[in-house]
Amino acid sequence: LSSDLNGRVAVITGASSGMGEATARLLATRGASVALLARRADRLDAIAADIRAAGGTAIAVPVDVSDRDALKAAAARVKDELGPAGIVFNNAGIMLPNPILDHREAEWATQIDINVRGAVATIGAFVDQLVETAAGGHPADLISTSSIAAHNLFPEFAVYSATKAFVAHLSRHLRMELGGKGVRVADIAPGGVATELIEHVTHDAVRAHMAATTEAAADLRGEDIAELVGFLVALPPHVNLQEVIVMPTAQA
Ligand code: NDP
Repeated sequence: LSSDLNGRVAVITGASSGMGEATARLLATRGASVALLARRADRLDAIAADIRAAGGTAIAVPVDVSDRDALKAAAARVKDELGPAGIVFNNAGIMLPNPILDHREAEWATQIDINVRGAVATIGAFVDQLVETAAGGHPADLISTSSIAAHNLFPEFAVYSATKAFVAHLSRHLRMELGGKGVRVADIAPGGVATELIEHVTHDAVRAHMAATTEAAADLRGEDIAELVGFLVALPPHVNLQEVIVMPTAQA
């Protein structure tokens, strides 16, 4: 393992909270220059300032991943200010579970816009930089956040789960295209992680049920996911751990 990430440029989407924030902090501690992407600029600024105060290199790049042009501009800024990305943690997402018979069409669309279109647009914006990094003889990693919901069945989660199954299958396919170019492609599929994700759930009964399950299962922490990302990117470049399913020990 090479956990010294000095010289590597890491882009993290969803870096303003939860597992993205934890991952940005961990990769910076290990020497990577990090670009923090999400919508809440105030949060990104505060986290980047923290990282810099601790001696790291970080820039805040406010962007909505459902805006393709804004993402392209963000990618250009990362390359200009830090150099081409060698790690992309494609992690931004939203979870709005609801019964299909409620017809919450706006919530279906939001999940598809962010989790599906946003994930693809992020890859589109940064894939050339990853290939460039690999072509220069350096490790390059594209890691996306899927979910246990891509594997198991949960009532009321149909649309969310399908967006995460999309991410998992997209990653499997992209590995075929990018592995030959030296870019590792992986996805992490976590069970419950204690983050703000659940706070955005608008369906009261579903949110209450999730909160109870979360408590019972003693959820993972964002830091646990950060450790996994740190592990994946530290592997020798010829080793591509393709998919990691990671569960709280007590979650069925
Ligand atoms: P958080 O809600 O803490 O993090 C979600 C992040 O995504 C935030 O930084 C948010 O920032 C960002 N985000 C949301 N929408 C957009 C957007 N349109 N453009 C840019 N950034 C956006 O939750 P988690 O850390 O838990 O979530 C991270 C990922 O993990 C998500 O993809 C989620 O689906 C997935 N996941 C989570 C699990 C859990 O139990 N927590 C389990 C399995 C998977 P901002 O609002 O500032 O834009």
